[in-house]
Amino acid sequence: MTDDTYVGAIDQGTTGTRFMVFDHSGKVIANAYEKHEQIYPNPGWVEHDAMEIWENTKSVINTALDDALIDADQLEALGVTNQRETTVMWDAESGRPIGNAIVWQDRRTTDRIEKLEADGKKDEVQQKTGLEPDAYFSATKAEWLLDNTDPIKLQRSRPKDVRERAEDGEILFGTIDTWVIYNLTGNHITDVTNASRTMLFNIHEMDWDEELLEEFNVPAATLPEVRPSSDEETYGSTDPDGFLGAEVPVAGALGDQQAALFGQTCFDAGDAKNTYGTGSFMLMNTGDEAVMSEHGLLTTVGFQRSGEPVQYALEGAIFITGAAIEWLEDMTLIDNAAESEKLARSVDSTDGVYFVPAFAGLGAPHWDQRARGTVVGMTRGTRREHLVRAVLESIAFQTRDVAEAMVEDSGIELGSLRVDGGAVKNNFLCQLQANIIDTDIVRPVVDETTALGSAYAAGLAVGYWDTIDELRDNWQIDRSFEAKSGVDADERYGRWNEAVERSLDWARDGGE
Ligand code: ADP
Repeated sequence: MTDDTYVGAIDQGTTGTRFMVFDHSGKVIANAYEKHEQIYPNPGWVEHDAMEIWENTKSVINTALDDALIDADQLEALGVTNQRETTVMWDAESGRPIGNAIVWQDRRTTDRIEKLEADGKKDEVQQKTGLEPDAYFSATKAEWLLDNTDPIKLQRSRPKDVRERAEDGEILFGTIDTWVIYNLTGNHITDVTNASRTMLFNIHEMDWDEELLEEFNVPAATLPEVRPSSDEETYGSTDPDGFLGAEVPVAGALGDQQAALFGQTCFDAGDAKNTYGTGSFMLMNTGDEAVMSEHGLLTTVGFQRSGEPVQYALEGAIFITGAAIEWLEDMTLIDNAAESEKLARSVDSTDGVYFVPAFAGLGAPHWDQRARGTVVGMTRGTRREHLVRAVLESIAFQTRDVAEAMVEDSGIELGSLRVDGGAVKNNFLCQLQANIIDTDIVRPVVDETTALGSAYAAGLAVGYWDTIDELRDNWQIDRSFEAKSGVDADERYGRWNEAVERSLDWARDGGE
Protein backbone atom coordinates (compact mmCIF):
# COMPACT_ATOMS: atom_id res chain seq x y z
CA MET A 1 0.00 0.00 0.00
CA THR A 2 1.36 3.41 -0.94
CA ASP A 3 -0.03 6.82 -0.12
CA ASP A 4 -1.56 7.40 -3.48
CA THR A 5 -3.48 4.18 -3.94
CA TYR A 6 -7.17 3.73 -3.18
CA VAL A 7 -10.11 1.36 -3.21
CA GLY A 8 -13.23 2.03 -5.30
CA ALA A 9 -16.82 1.10 -4.46
CA ILE A 10 -19.70 0.77 -6.90
CA ASP A 11 -22.99 1.36 -5.05
CA GLN A 12 -25.75 0.32 -7.43
CA GLY A 13 -28.98 1.46 -5.71
CA THR A 14 -32.69 1.48 -6.55
CA THR A 15 -32.76 5.05 -7.79
CA GLY A 16 -29.21 5.45 -9.04
CA THR A 17 -25.60 4.35 -9.20
CA ARG A 18 -22.77 5.86 -7.19
CA PHE A 19 -19.03 5.39 -7.41
CA MET A 20 -16.85 6.35 -4.45
CA VAL A 21 -13.13 6.18 -3.93
CA PHE A 22 -11.77 5.75 -0.39
CA ASP A 23 -8.27 6.17 0.95
CA HIS A 24 -6.58 4.10 3.62
CA SER A 25 -8.17 6.08 6.45
CA GLY A 26 -11.65 5.44 5.00
CA LYS A 27 -11.98 9.04 3.78
CA VAL A 28 -13.98 9.76 0.61
CA ILE A 29 -11.64 10.96 -2.16
CA ALA A 30 -13.98 10.90 -5.17
CA ASN A 31 -17.71 10.58 -5.71
CA ALA A 32 -20.09 10.56 -8.69
CA TYR A 33 -23.77 9.62 -9.01
CA GLU A 34 -26.29 9.06 -11.80
CA LYS A 35 -29.98 8.22 -11.65
CA HIS A 36 -31.62 5.68 -13.91
CA GLU A 37 -35.18 5.34 -15.22
CA GLN A 38 -37.89 3.72 -13.10
CA ILE A 39 -40.14 1.75 -15.44
CA TYR A 40 -43.75 1.03 -14.36
CA PRO A 41 -45.34 -1.09 -17.14
CA ASN A 42 -48.40 -2.07 -15.04
CA PRO A 43 -49.75 -1.21 -11.59
CA GLY A 44 -47.51 -2.88 -9.00
CA TRP A 45 -44.74 -3.60 -11.52
CA VAL A 46 -41.30 -1.94 -11.25
CA GLU A 47 -38.50 -2.54 -13.74
CA HIS A 48 -35.00 -1.27 -14.54
CA ASP A 49 -33.08 -1.46 -17.78
CA ALA A 50 -29.97 -3.46 -16.84
CA MET A 51 -28.03 -2.08 -19.84
CA GLU A 52 -28.71 1.46 -18.63
CA ILE A 53 -27.45 0.47 -15.18
CA TRP A 54 -24.24 -0.90 -16.66
CA GLU A 55 -23.73 2.19 -18.87
CA ASN A 56 -24.24 4.41 -15.80
CA THR A 57 -21.82 2.31 -13.78
CA LYS A 58 -19.05 2.89 -16.32
CA SER A 59 -19.92 6.56 -16.56
CA VAL A 60 -19.88 7.28 -12.78
CA ILE A 61 -16.56 5.46 -12.42
CA ASN A 62 -14.94 7.52 -15.17
CA THR A 63 -16.49 10.79 -13.95
CA ALA A 64 -15.37 10.31 -10.34
CA LEU A 65 -11.83 9.37 -11.36
CA ASP A 66 -11.58 12.29 -13.82
CA ASP A 67 -12.94 14.82 -11.32
CA ALA A 68 -10.51 13.74 -8.61
CA LEU A 69 -7.60 13.37 -11.07
CA ILE A 70 -7.12 9.73 -10.09
CA ASP A 71 -5.71 7.22 -12.52
CA ALA A 72 -7.45 3.83 -12.66
CA ASP A 73 -4.05 2.22 -11.97
CA GLN A 74 -4.18 3.79 -8.53
CA LEU A 75 -7.16 1.61 -7.61
CA GLU A 76 -5.99 -1.49 -5.74
CA ALA A 77 -9.41 -3.11 -5.78
CA LEU A 78 -13.08 -2.58 -6.57
CA GLY A 79 -15.99 -3.52 -4.32
CA VAL A 80 -19.65 -3.80 -5.30
CA THR A 81 -22.78 -3.15 -3.26
CA ASN A 82 -26.26 -3.21 -4.65
CA GLN A 83 -30.02 -2.94 -4.34
CA ARG A 84 -30.91 -6.43 -3.18
CA GLU A 85 -33.24 -9.06 -4.70
CA THR A 86 -33.68 -7.23 -8.05
CA THR A 87 -33.40 -9.90 -10.72
CA VAL A 88 -31.95 -9.85 -14.22
CA MET A 89 -31.45 -12.65 -16.76
CA TRP A 90 -29.22 -12.42 -19.80
CA ASP A 91 -28.00 -14.26 -22.84
CA ALA A 92 -24.60 -15.83 -22.09
CA GLU A 93 -23.45 -15.46 -25.68
CA SER A 94 -24.35 -11.84 -26.35
CA GLY A 95 -24.35 -10.56 -22.77
CA ARG A 96 -27.70 -8.84 -23.51
CA PRO A 97 -30.52 -9.02 -20.92
CA ILE A 98 -33.54 -11.08 -22.05
CA GLY A 99 -35.82 -8.36 -20.65
CA ASN A 100 -35.89 -5.62 -18.05
CA ALA A 101 -34.70 -6.38 -14.52
CA ILE A 102 -37.58 -6.98 -12.10
CA VAL A 103 -37.04 -4.69 -9.11
CA TRP A 104 -37.40 -5.79 -5.47
CA GLN A 105 -40.49 -3.56 -5.07
CA ASP A 106 -42.34 -5.36 -7.89
CA ARG A 107 -45.51 -7.18 -6.72
CA ARG A 108 -46.40 -9.11 -9.92
CA THR A 109 -45.63 -12.52 -8.38
CA THR A 110 -47.79 -12.11 -5.26
CA ASP A 111 -50.19 -14.81 -6.54
CA ARG A 112 -47.31 -17.24 -6.83
CA ILE A 113 -46.49 -16.70 -3.15
CA GLU A 114 -50.13 -17.21 -2.24
CA LYS A 115 -50.02 -20.53 -4.11
CA LEU A 116 -46.90 -21.50 -2.16
CA GLU A 117 -48.80 -20.80 1.05
CA ALA A 118 -51.87 -22.70 -0.14
CA ASP A 119 -49.63 -25.67 -0.98
CA GLY A 120 -48.40 -25.61 2.63
CA LYS A 121 -44.78 -24.99 1.63
CA LYS A 122 -44.18 -21.70 3.41
CA ASP A 123 -42.55 -23.11 6.53
CA GLU A 124 -40.14 -25.26 4.58
CA VAL A 125 -38.98 -22.31 2.48
CA GLN A 126 -38.60 -20.19 5.61
CA GLN A 127 -36.65 -22.91 7.38
CA LYS A 128 -34.16 -23.25 4.53
CA THR A 129 -33.75 -19.62 3.49
CA GLY A 130 -34.44 -17.66 6.70
CA LEU A 131 -36.86 -15.52 4.66
CA GLU A 132 -40.56 -14.88 5.07
CA PRO A 133 -41.76 -16.03 1.60
CA ASP A 134 -42.67 -12.94 -0.40
CA ALA A 135 -42.71 -11.60 -3.96
CA TYR A 136 -39.93 -9.28 -2.76
CA PHE A 137 -37.25 -11.99 -3.15
CA SER A 138 -35.67 -13.14 -6.44
CA ALA A 139 -37.02 -16.69 -6.84
CA THR A 140 -40.48 -15.88 -8.21
CA LYS A 141 -39.07 -13.06 -10.33
CA ALA A 142 -36.66 -15.47 -12.06
CA GLU A 143 -39.50 -17.95 -12.56
CA TRP A 144 -41.64 -15.19 -14.08
CA LEU A 145 -38.90 -14.09 -16.49
CA LEU A 146 -38.34 -17.65 -17.69
CA ASP A 147 -42.09 -18.23 -18.14
CA ASN A 148 -42.91 -14.95 -19.82
CA THR A 149 -40.01 -13.90 -22.01
CA ASP A 150 -40.89 -14.08 -25.68
CA PRO A 151 -38.10 -15.93 -27.56
CA ILE A 152 -38.87 -14.06 -30.79
CA LYS A 153 -38.09 -10.74 -29.09
CA LEU A 154 -34.61 -12.02 -28.29
CA GLN A 155 -33.81 -11.73 -31.99
CA ARG A 156 -31.97 -15.02 -32.11
CA SER A 157 -31.40 -16.98 -35.25
CA ARG A 158 -32.56 -20.01 -33.28
CA PRO A 159 -35.86 -19.13 -31.58
CA LYS A 160 -35.41 -21.93 -29.05
CA ASP A 161 -37.69 -21.81 -26.05
CA VAL A 162 -36.22 -19.58 -23.31
CA ARG A 163 -36.62 -22.25 -20.67
CA GLU A 164 -34.88 -24.81 -22.84
CA ARG A 165 -31.99 -22.43 -23.40
CA ALA A 166 -31.81 -21.78 -19.65
CA GLU A 167 -31.56 -25.55 -19.00
CA ASP A 168 -28.62 -25.60 -21.40
CA GLY A 169 -26.86 -22.77 -19.54
CA GLU A 170 -27.37 -20.33 -22.39
CA ILE A 171 -29.32 -17.92 -20.17
CA LEU A 172 -27.79 -16.63 -16.94
CA PHE A 173 -29.48 -15.46 -13.74
CA GLY A 174 -28.17 -12.74 -11.49
CA THR A 175 -28.97 -10.19 -8.85
CA ILE A 176 -27.48 -6.77 -9.61
CA ASP A 177 -24.11 -7.53 -7.96
CA THR A 178 -23.78 -10.47 -10.35
CA TRP A 179 -24.72 -8.35 -13.36
CA VAL A 180 -22.14 -5.70 -12.46
CA ILE A 181 -19.39 -8.24 -11.63
CA TYR A 182 -20.11 -10.12 -14.90
CA ASN A 183 -19.74 -6.95 -16.92
CA LEU A 184 -16.61 -5.91 -15.04
CA THR A 185 -14.80 -9.27 -15.13
CA GLY A 186 -16.62 -11.65 -17.48
CA ASN A 187 -17.22 -14.05 -14.56
CA HIS A 188 -20.62 -15.26 -13.35
CA ILE A 189 -20.39 -14.81 -9.59
CA THR A 190 -22.48 -13.67 -6.62
CA ASP A 191 -21.56 -13.21 -2.97
CA VAL A 192 -23.11 -15.06 -0.05
CA THR A 193 -25.20 -12.10 1.16
CA ASN A 194 -26.87 -11.57 -2.20
CA ALA A 195 -27.39 -15.32 -2.64
CA SER A 196 -29.18 -15.34 0.72
CA ARG A 197 -31.84 -12.95 -0.67
CA THR A 198 -32.82 -15.06 -3.69
CA MET A 199 -35.04 -17.54 -1.75
CA LEU A 200 -33.21 -20.26 -3.71
CA PHE A 201 -30.27 -20.53 -1.33
CA ASN A 202 -30.04 -22.70 1.77
CA ILE A 203 -28.37 -20.48 4.39
CA HIS A 204 -27.52 -23.42 6.67
CA GLU A 205 -25.85 -25.53 4.01
CA MET A 206 -24.63 -22.42 2.18
CA ASP A 207 -25.56 -23.77 -1.22
CA TRP A 208 -28.27 -23.47 -3.86
CA ASP A 209 -31.14 -25.72 -2.77
CA GLU A 210 -32.26 -28.35 -5.27
CA GLU A 211 -35.79 -28.57 -3.91
CA LEU A 212 -36.25 -24.81 -4.08
CA LEU A 213 -34.85 -24.71 -7.62
CA GLU A 214 -37.41 -27.34 -8.53
CA GLU A 215 -40.23 -25.55 -6.73
CA PHE A 216 -39.54 -22.27 -8.54
CA ASN A 217 -38.53 -23.98 -11.76
CA VAL A 218 -35.14 -22.27 -12.00
CA PRO A 219 -32.52 -24.42 -13.80
CA ALA A 220 -29.26 -24.85 -11.85
CA ALA A 221 -27.33 -24.10 -15.05
CA THR A 222 -28.46 -20.44 -14.86
CA LEU A 223 -27.00 -19.82 -11.40
CA PRO A 224 -23.82 -17.96 -10.50
CA GLU A 225 -21.01 -19.36 -8.40
CA VAL A 226 -21.35 -18.24 -4.77
CA ARG A 227 -18.27 -16.66 -3.20
CA PRO A 228 -17.33 -14.98 0.10
CA SER A 229 -18.21 -11.26 0.41
CA SER A 230 -14.52 -10.47 0.79
CA ASP A 231 -12.63 -12.86 -1.46
CA GLU A 232 -8.84 -13.22 -1.54
CA GLU A 233 -9.17 -15.27 -4.71
CA THR A 234 -10.97 -12.23 -6.21
CA TYR A 235 -13.95 -12.43 -8.56
CA GLY A 236 -11.71 -11.51 -11.52
CA SER A 237 -10.27 -8.27 -12.86
CA THR A 238 -11.28 -5.50 -15.21
CA ASP A 239 -9.94 -5.73 -18.75
CA PRO A 240 -6.90 -3.45 -19.28
CA ASP A 241 -8.23 -2.82 -22.80
CA GLY A 242 -11.76 -2.11 -21.53
CA PHE A 243 -13.49 1.09 -20.39
CA LEU A 244 -11.25 1.54 -17.34
CA GLY A 245 -7.97 1.01 -19.17
CA ALA A 246 -6.48 -0.83 -16.20
CA GLU A 247 -6.51 -4.29 -14.67
CA VAL A 248 -8.18 -3.84 -11.28
CA PRO A 249 -9.28 -6.83 -9.17
CA VAL A 250 -12.94 -6.99 -8.11
CA ALA A 251 -12.67 -8.57 -4.69
CA GLY A 252 -15.69 -7.69 -2.53
CA ALA A 253 -19.48 -7.64 -2.80
CA LEU A 254 -22.35 -7.29 -0.32
CA GLY A 255 -26.05 -6.46 -0.58
CA ASP A 256 -26.62 -2.83 0.47
CA GLN A 257 -27.86 -3.42 4.03
CA GLN A 258 -25.14 -5.97 4.76
CA ALA A 259 -22.59 -3.54 3.29
CA ALA A 260 -23.78 -0.90 5.77
CA LEU A 261 -23.35 -3.44 8.59
CA PHE A 262 -19.77 -4.06 7.38
CA GLY A 263 -19.06 -0.35 6.84
CA GLN A 264 -20.24 0.33 10.39
CA THR A 265 -17.67 -2.32 11.46
CA CYS A 266 -20.35 -4.45 13.13
CA PHE A 267 -18.02 -7.44 13.06
CA ASP A 268 -18.98 -9.11 16.35
CA ALA A 269 -22.13 -10.86 17.54
CA GLY A 270 -24.45 -8.30 19.13
CA ASP A 271 -23.21 -5.38 17.00
CA ALA A 272 -26.15 -3.68 15.32
CA LYS A 273 -26.83 -0.85 12.90
CA ASN A 274 -29.96 0.91 11.72
CA THR A 275 -30.13 2.78 8.42
CA TYR A 276 -32.78 5.53 8.36
CA GLY A 277 -33.67 6.26 4.73
CA THR A 278 -37.07 6.22 3.06
CA GLY A 279 -37.67 3.13 5.17
CA SER A 280 -35.35 1.67 7.80
CA PHE A 281 -33.35 -1.51 7.95
CA MET A 282 -31.96 -2.68 11.24
CA LEU A 283 -29.44 -5.54 11.18
CA MET A 284 -27.82 -7.29 14.10
CA ASN A 285 -24.79 -9.53 13.72
CA THR A 286 -25.57 -12.87 15.41
CA GLY A 287 -22.12 -14.42 14.79
CA ASP A 288 -21.83 -17.89 13.28
CA GLU A 289 -25.32 -18.87 14.45
CA ALA A 290 -28.29 -18.44 12.11
CA VAL A 291 -30.92 -17.36 14.66
CA MET A 292 -34.41 -18.20 13.40
CA SER A 293 -36.87 -15.47 14.35
CA GLU A 294 -40.10 -15.99 16.22
CA HIS A 295 -40.98 -12.31 15.91
CA GLY A 296 -41.23 -11.64 12.20
CA LEU A 297 -37.57 -10.81 11.52
CA LEU A 298 -35.58 -12.23 8.63
CA THR A 299 -32.53 -14.43 9.14
CA THR A 300 -29.91 -13.61 6.59
CA VAL A 301 -26.22 -13.86 5.79
CA GLY A 302 -24.36 -10.86 7.26
CA PHE A 303 -21.01 -11.38 5.51
CA GLN A 304 -18.21 -13.87 4.96
CA ARG A 305 -14.48 -13.35 4.60
CA SER A 306 -12.41 -15.92 2.67
CA GLY A 307 -11.43 -18.87 4.79
CA GLU A 308 -13.64 -17.77 7.68
CA PRO A 309 -17.07 -18.95 8.85
CA VAL A 310 -20.18 -17.21 7.62
CA GLN A 311 -21.52 -14.49 9.93
CA TYR A 312 -25.30 -14.35 10.12
CA ALA A 313 -27.61 -11.46 10.89
CA LEU A 314 -31.17 -10.78 11.97
CA GLU A 315 -32.90 -8.14 9.90
CA GLY A 316 -35.93 -5.98 10.60
CA ALA A 317 -37.43 -4.01 7.73
CA ILE A 318 -39.57 -0.95 8.51
CA PHE A 319 -41.35 0.34 5.41
CA ILE A 320 -42.00 3.97 6.25
CA THR A 321 -39.66 6.19 8.29
CA GLY A 322 -38.05 9.01 6.24
CA ALA A 323 -41.01 8.67 3.86
CA ALA A 324 -43.28 9.92 6.67
CA ILE A 325 -41.17 13.10 6.75
CA GLU A 326 -41.64 13.36 2.98
CA TRP A 327 -45.39 13.03 3.58
CA LEU A 328 -45.25 15.99 6.00
CA GLU A 329 -43.61 17.96 3.19
CA ASP A 330 -46.27 16.87 0.69
CA MET A 331 -48.93 18.00 3.13
CA THR A 332 -47.09 21.36 3.41
CA LEU A 333 -46.85 20.91 7.19
CA ILE A 334 -43.10 21.46 6.80
CA ASP A 335 -41.08 23.15 4.03
CA ASN A 336 -38.22 20.67 4.09
CA ALA A 337 -37.06 17.63 6.06
CA ALA A 338 -34.67 19.62 8.26
CA GLU A 339 -37.53 21.83 9.51
CA SER A 340 -39.04 18.79 11.26
CA GLU A 341 -36.31 19.08 13.90
CA LYS A 342 -37.00 22.74 14.68
CA LEU A 343 -40.76 22.25 14.93
CA ALA A 344 -40.49 19.12 17.09
CA ARG A 345 -38.21 20.95 19.53
CA SER A 346 -40.61 23.87 19.80
CA VAL A 347 -43.06 21.81 21.88
CA ASP A 348 -42.42 19.73 25.02
CA SER A 349 -44.38 16.70 23.88
CA THR A 350 -46.86 15.57 21.25
CA ASP A 351 -49.61 16.43 23.75
CA GLY A 352 -50.85 12.85 23.60
CA VAL A 353 -50.82 12.48 19.81
CA TYR A 354 -49.57 9.19 18.30
CA PHE A 355 -49.00 8.75 14.59
CA VAL A 356 -48.67 5.29 12.97
CA PRO A 357 -47.24 5.66 9.44
CA ALA A 358 -48.68 2.39 8.13
CA PHE A 359 -49.12 3.89 4.64
CA ALA A 360 -48.07 0.63 2.99
CA GLY A 361 -49.11 -1.75 5.73
CA LEU A 362 -46.67 -2.59 8.53
CA GLY A 363 -43.43 -4.57 8.16
CA ALA A 364 -41.41 -6.20 10.93
CA PRO A 365 -42.45 -7.29 13.48
CA HIS A 366 -46.19 -6.79 12.79
CA TRP A 367 -46.43 -7.86 9.12
CA ASP A 368 -49.90 -6.59 8.39
CA GLN A 369 -50.51 -5.68 4.73
CA ARG A 370 -53.92 -4.28 5.63
CA ALA A 371 -52.71 -1.85 8.31
CA ARG A 372 -53.11 1.82 7.30
CA GLY A 373 -51.87 5.18 8.54
CA THR A 374 -53.51 6.38 11.74
CA VAL A 375 -53.39 9.43 14.01
CA VAL A 376 -54.85 9.06 17.48
CA GLY A 377 -55.12 11.33 20.49
CA MET A 378 -55.84 14.61 18.70
CA THR A 379 -57.76 17.38 20.43
CA ARG A 380 -58.94 20.83 19.33
CA GLY A 381 -55.60 22.07 20.66
CA THR A 382 -53.42 19.82 18.47
CA ARG A 383 -51.05 21.87 16.38
CA ARG A 384 -48.78 20.99 13.48
CA GLU A 385 -45.76 20.99 15.84
CA HIS A 386 -47.37 18.15 17.80
CA LEU A 387 -48.07 16.20 14.65
CA VAL A 388 -44.52 16.70 13.33
CA ARG A 389 -43.11 15.56 16.66
CA ALA A 390 -45.42 12.54 16.61
CA VAL A 391 -44.09 11.59 13.16
CA LEU A 392 -40.50 11.68 14.43
CA GLU A 393 -41.54 9.67 17.48
CA SER A 394 -43.12 7.07 15.19
CA ILE A 395 -39.71 6.47 13.59
CA ALA A 396 -38.18 5.88 17.02
CA PHE A 397 -41.06 3.67 18.23
CA GLN A 398 -40.97 1.49 15.12
CA THR A 399 -37.26 0.97 15.68
CA ARG A 400 -37.99 -0.10 19.26
CA ASP A 401 -40.50 -2.66 17.92
CA VAL A 402 -37.74 -4.22 15.82
CA ALA A 403 -35.00 -3.85 18.44
CA GLU A 404 -37.13 -5.65 21.07
CA ALA A 405 -37.83 -8.47 18.62
CA MET A 406 -34.10 -8.81 17.96
CA VAL A 407 -33.17 -8.97 21.60
CA GLU A 408 -35.87 -11.59 22.25
CA ASP A 409 -34.89 -13.73 19.27
CA SER A 410 -31.15 -13.59 19.81
CA GLY A 411 -30.97 -13.39 23.58
CA ILE A 412 -28.28 -10.72 23.05
CA GLU A 413 -28.66 -7.30 24.70
CA LEU A 414 -27.99 -4.31 22.47
CA GLY A 415 -24.78 -2.60 23.57
CA SER A 416 -25.26 0.48 21.44
CA LEU A 417 -26.86 1.15 18.07
CA ARG A 418 -24.85 2.54 15.16
CA VAL A 419 -26.94 4.67 12.85
CA ASP A 420 -26.68 6.01 9.30
CA GLY A 421 -28.90 7.15 6.40
CA GLY A 422 -30.40 10.49 5.41
CA ALA A 423 -32.62 11.01 8.48
CA VAL A 424 -29.85 10.75 11.11
CA LYS A 425 -28.80 14.31 10.31
CA ASN A 426 -31.70 15.06 12.65
CA ASN A 427 -30.16 15.36 16.14
CA PHE A 428 -33.55 15.50 17.79
CA LEU A 429 -34.46 12.15 16.23
CA CYS A 430 -31.16 10.58 17.34
CA GLN A 431 -31.61 11.71 20.97
CA LEU A 432 -35.24 10.63 20.95
CA GLN A 433 -34.19 7.25 19.58
CA ALA A 434 -31.65 6.77 22.36
CA ASN A 435 -34.28 7.61 25.01
CA ILE A 436 -36.98 5.42 23.52
CA ILE A 437 -34.85 2.27 23.15
CA ASP A 438 -32.84 3.09 26.28
CA THR A 439 -29.63 2.43 24.34
CA ASP A 440 -26.86 4.78 23.26
CA ILE A 441 -27.00 5.88 19.63
CA VAL A 442 -23.73 6.40 17.80
CA ARG A 443 -23.42 8.28 14.52
CA PRO A 444 -20.16 7.89 12.56
CA VAL A 445 -18.35 10.60 10.57
CA VAL A 446 -18.59 8.82 7.20
CA ASP A 447 -22.27 8.45 6.51
CA GLU A 448 -21.82 6.62 3.19
CA THR A 449 -21.41 3.38 5.11
CA THR A 450 -22.87 1.25 2.31
CA ALA A 451 -20.18 2.15 -0.22
CA LEU A 452 -17.55 2.10 2.54
CA GLY A 453 -18.55 -1.46 3.53
CA SER A 454 -18.00 -2.82 0.04
CA ALA A 455 -14.70 -0.95 -0.26
CA TYR A 456 -13.61 -2.48 3.05
CA ALA A 457 -14.56 -5.98 1.85
CA ALA A 458 -12.58 -5.54 -1.38
CA GLY A 459 -9.61 -3.81 0.27
CA LEU A 460 -9.27 -6.47 2.97
CA ALA A 461 -9.24 -9.20 0.31
CA VAL A 462 -6.29 -7.68 -1.58
CA GLY A 463 -4.34 -6.63 1.53
CA TYR A 464 -4.96 -2.86 1.16
CA TRP A 465 -6.12 -3.19 4.75
CA ASP A 466 -4.47 -5.99 6.70
CA THR A 467 -6.86 -6.56 9.57
CA ILE A 468 -10.37 -5.65 10.60
CA ASP A 469 -8.83 -3.82 13.57
CA GLU A 470 -7.53 -1.23 11.11
CA LEU A 471 -11.10 -0.73 9.96
CA ARG A 472 -12.33 -0.44 13.53
CA ASP A 473 -9.69 2.26 14.05
CA ASN A 474 -10.94 4.10 10.95
CA TRP A 475 -14.48 4.18 12.30
CA GLN A 476 -14.87 7.58 13.92
CA ILE A 477 -17.71 8.91 15.96
CA ASP A 478 -19.32 12.10 14.75
CA ARG A 479 -21.66 12.22 17.75
CA SER A 480 -23.03 9.93 20.47
CA PHE A 481 -26.47 10.30 22.00
CA GLU A 482 -26.75 8.90 25.50
CA ALA A 483 -30.03 7.36 26.60
CA LYS A 484 -31.62 9.64 29.23
CA SER A 485 -33.52 8.04 32.06
CA GLY A 486 -36.72 9.45 33.52
CA VAL A 487 -38.35 10.20 30.16
CA ASP A 488 -41.27 7.78 30.67
CA ALA A 489 -40.20 5.91 27.52
CA ASP A 490 -41.89 2.66 28.57
CA GLU A 491 -45.20 4.32 29.28
CA ARG A 492 -45.18 6.14 25.95
CA TYR A 493 -44.13 2.97 24.17
CA GLY A 494 -47.13 1.22 25.75
CA ARG A 495 -49.41 3.91 24.32
CA TRP A 496 -47.67 3.55 20.93
CA ASN A 497 -48.56 -0.15 20.95
CA GLU A 498 -52.19 0.75 21.56
CA ALA A 499 -52.06 3.15 18.60
CA VAL A 500 -50.58 0.38 16.42
CA GLU A 501 -53.48 -1.89 17.42
CA ARG A 502 -55.87 0.70 16.04
CA SER A 503 -54.07 0.84 12.67
CA LEU A 504 -54.14 -2.92 12.03
CA ASP A 505 -56.37 -4.79 9.58
CA TRP A 506 -57.98 -1.64 8.21
CA ALA A 507 -57.86 -1.90 4.39
CA ARG A 508 -60.57 -3.89 2.63
CA ASP A 509 -60.13 -5.52 -0.79
CA GLY A 510 -59.14 -2.89 -3.28
CA GLY A 511 -56.68 -1.48 -0.75
CA GLU A 512 -58.93 1.23 0.72
P1 ADP B 1 -32.80 6.41 0.57
O1 ADP B 1 -31.42 5.86 0.50
O2 ADP B 1 -33.83 5.46 1.10
O3 ADP B 1 -33.26 7.11 -0.68
P2 ADP B 1 -31.60 8.50 2.25
O4 ADP B 1 -30.68 7.76 3.13
O5 ADP B 1 -31.05 9.36 1.18
O6 ADP B 1 -32.76 7.56 1.69
O7 ADP B 1 -32.51 9.42 3.22
C1 ADP B 1 -33.56 10.18 2.72
C2 ADP B 1 -34.69 10.22 3.73
O8 ADP B 1 -34.27 10.90 4.90
C3 ADP B 1 -35.90 10.96 3.18
O9 ADP B 1 -37.05 10.14 3.35
C4 ADP B 1 -36.00 12.23 4.04
O10 ADP B 1 -37.35 12.54 4.34
C5 ADP B 1 -35.27 11.84 5.31
N1 ADP B 1 -34.57 13.00 5.92
C6 ADP B 1 -33.60 13.76 5.36
N2 ADP B 1 -33.21 14.74 6.21
C7 ADP B 1 -33.96 14.60 7.35
C8 ADP B 1 -34.05 15.29 8.59
N3 ADP B 1 -33.27 16.34 8.87
N4 ADP B 1 -34.95 14.83 9.50
C9 ADP B 1 -35.72 13.77 9.25
N5 ADP B 1 -35.69 13.08 8.10
C10 ADP B 1 -34.83 13.48 7.14
